[in-house]
Amino acid sequence: MGIRFYPAILTAALGLTAFGADLKLNVRIYNYAQVPPGTLARVQDVAGSILRAAGVEATWRLCSATGNEPGRDPECGNARTPTDLVLSILPHKMADRLATDRSVYGTSFGAAEGDFASSASIFYDRIEDLAKRRRDPCPLLVGNFLAHEIGHLLLGPDSHSRTGIMSIPFDAMQVRRALWGTLRFTPEEAARIRSEVARRMEASVSQREDESGCHRSSSHASVLFPLAEG
Ligand SMILES: [Zn+2]
Repeated sequence: MGIRFYPAILTAALGLTAFGADLKLNVRIYNYAQVPPGTLARVQDVAGSILRAAGVEATWRLCSATGNEPGRDPECGNARTPTDLVLSILPHKMADRLATDRSVYGTSFGAAEGDFASSASIFYDRIEDLAKRRRDPCPLLVGNFLAHEIGHLLLGPDSHSRTGIMSIPFDAMQVRRALWGTLRFTPEEAARIRSEVARRMEASVSQREDESGCHRSSSHASVLFPLAEG
């Protein structure tokens, strides 16, 4: 298993294009906002295409937000590895507890030193309100915000930029670019993301090997602190 990851790690380390390389992430979705399945699928398509343009393939896993929902992915019950991200889709009530400023549309959380940032939230009702005000298609906007928050987890602190999907504020021009489908990670960000995913894949293999051995690795509960808002 370990050998098949080496080309991806090598190309990322050399800064070469990793398109077509086997760089993969799992995103566990907790749908607290009860977004309808069809809308959620469209959101995942949009965010997935933005990540794919950066050279990373995302697998979306629907996890239970409220109990035993039908269609829950059985993988949700397994221990997380560094390639598993947790994305919560929040309604107003839950979003207001994290950020009172209604112009903030998502947040991501850092991790303790040596651990991997894995948890982020998007504020669905706020994005839906924004889309309604502008009469824009909601899934497109939500998908862009979702990709933005995943960008924070993979790029680390201070990852806002002046152009592309990581730029803020998310003003009218940004919204227009999102709707045109032209908001992407910059080439420099995409290279860093590929390198980070390769690093996480390598760490995930090590974790699985540790857990299959005599000494079980310690728990991977994340220490959460705000990484970035918006
Ligand atoms: Zn941000």
